[in-house]
Amino acid sequence: MKTKRAQRYGFCSGVRVADIKVRRFAAKGGNGAILGQVVHNERVVEEMEKLGVRTVHSLEEVKEPVIVFSAHGVPPSYHEKARALGLEILDTTCKFVYDIHKESRKALEGGAHLVFIGDPNHREVVGYTHDLAKDAYHVIASVEQALAVEWQAYPAIKIFYQTTLNAEEYEPVARAIEEANPRTSRADTICYATKENQEAARKLATDAEVDVVIVIGGKHSANTRHLFEICSRFKPCYLVQGASDLDPSWFQQAKCVGLTAGASTPDYVIDEVEKAVSAL
Ligand code: SF4
Repeated sequence: MKTKRAQRYGFCSGVRVADIKVRRFAAKGGNGAILGQVVHNERVVEEMEKLGVRTVHSLEEVKEPVIVFSAHGVPPSYHEKARALGLEILDTTCKFVYDIHKESRKALEGGAHLVFIGDPNHREVVGYTHDLAKDAYHVIASVEQALAVEWQAYPAIKIFYQTTLNAEEYEPVARAIEEANPRTSRADTICYATKENQEAARKLATDAEVDVVIVIGGKHSANTRHLFEICSRFKPCYLVQGASDLDPSWFQQAKCVGLTAGASTPDYVIDEVEKAVSAL
């Protein structure tokens, strides 16, 4: 079976840096816990646990001297809380996530009402909103939700996108807010890694040579799911976490299989899947 990889796929710069920082820390014998998954990939989480860096879901659970903050970032108050608990912080928050923290704070100080387009439960979005007054912001996930708010009431509005969104899909949400209040501006906060992986996935799925597309990534990874949604529009598409999820019946009519992967998928998992597909 022939395989063809998307031109851009897999680990983004933010996740690559986070992964390296935690591995270096573990290699030096560091004793720490990660708040939430270091990246949204179960394989990486298992590996980290083998390296001795376990995953916890609250600061209160930490028994180790060091707490690792993941690439998605945390609310600023978590830094103070961790220090108050006597924890040392290994911060692997992505630079682009910090840019949104900074820009949204600036917009708020300038009198704007903040709108985060994304999933209110995604850790990145929780990081932006947790410490804010409830009336300072909205998190909007659909056009219906956007139409239900009285946007005219705000003297100024600043829109931010969760970095890992499918930009195309959320454009109408931003437009609905802009139409309701002309004093709305947007911050360009979909990170380039997400955009590039999405564009490359679309190109792969529309490639005439490609019969089936396999998207490789974690079950809980939002950006992996978006790649899957994009590719499914054009070709039969399957989402797998690794080679063991592949089903030979998917490829019965296929001559060429396209491969792409979410921003939290390690290179070795992509290699494993490609090898297994090629061997079919
Ligand atoms: S997807 Fe973008 S914002 Fe998110 S960690 Fe990667 S580089 Fe950073």
